[in-house]
Amino acid sequence: MYDPLELAESTRNVVCKDNQRKYYRFRPARFYGGISTGDCLGCCLRCVFCWSWDKVINPHRFGKYYTPEEVARRLVLTARSKRYNQIRISGNEPAICKRHLISVLELIPKDYLFILETNGILIGNDERYAEDLSRFPNLYVRVSLKGSCEEEFSMLTGAIPEGFQLQLKTLEYLVKYKVNTHPACMISFSSHDNIRNLRKRLRAINPAFEDFEVEELILYPAVEARLKRLKTDFRTGHKPDKIPFEQI
Ligand code: SF4
Repeated sequence: MYDPLELAESTRNVVCKDNQRKYYRFRPARFYGGISTGDCLGCCLRCVFCWSWDKVINPHRFGKYYTPEEVARRLVLTARSKRYNQIRISGNEPAICKRHLISVLELIPKDYLFILETNGILIGNDERYAEDLSRFPNLYVRVSLKGSCEEEFSMLTGAIPEGFQLQLKTLEYLVKYKVNTHPACMISFSSHDNIRNLRKRLRAINPAFEDFEVEELILYPAVEARLKRLKTDFRTGHKPDKIPFEQI
């Protein structure tokens, strides 16, 4: 098992340089009814169902570095040409390069809604991060929980179970600093009991979180092959006691 905070540190050395961040693509996307999207490189988790696996494990092989000015310009240009009013950074984990992310947010005109999609590990470890994000009234944060409890988080990501608590902490901090946010959760591997318990834990943070967004497992061929290798039954939710993560 690995510590996601340590993995974030070593990944940061590859994908963040000065105030630049590595991205592998900018594109219009159909999600959220149409959104201008920049796909960044580098993540602090290794989810078994990741659709961007080759980029996550080989960030040095893809993309190039962009300044915050270049990123904001590309995002706004695409939004304008497609008449979108929404912008996001997606792909891998946007929160890894904090200074770069904050700089991009400062450069995006406030009439665009900025959707930050994060796994929540880094904000949950740094209350100040949530406070810094609260400066942006046009920001919405979608926190993607990996499983419904510590044990599932560890099974799905190969990381230490404590990472799940960081994900919940992120929601707590964002609520505390009045940042618009909601949780999403991958529950394709979860038992009914675990989902019920998760609802309880989320309700304690904010009653509205009880109805969290359900993330769908998308069975791209590579994802299916990885799950099969791990002998994880994604239809019944049956889980092995331990993922032999080194086999991924
Ligand atoms: S957090 Fe997202 S990008 Fe990172 S490994 Fe998991 S699914 Fe992939």
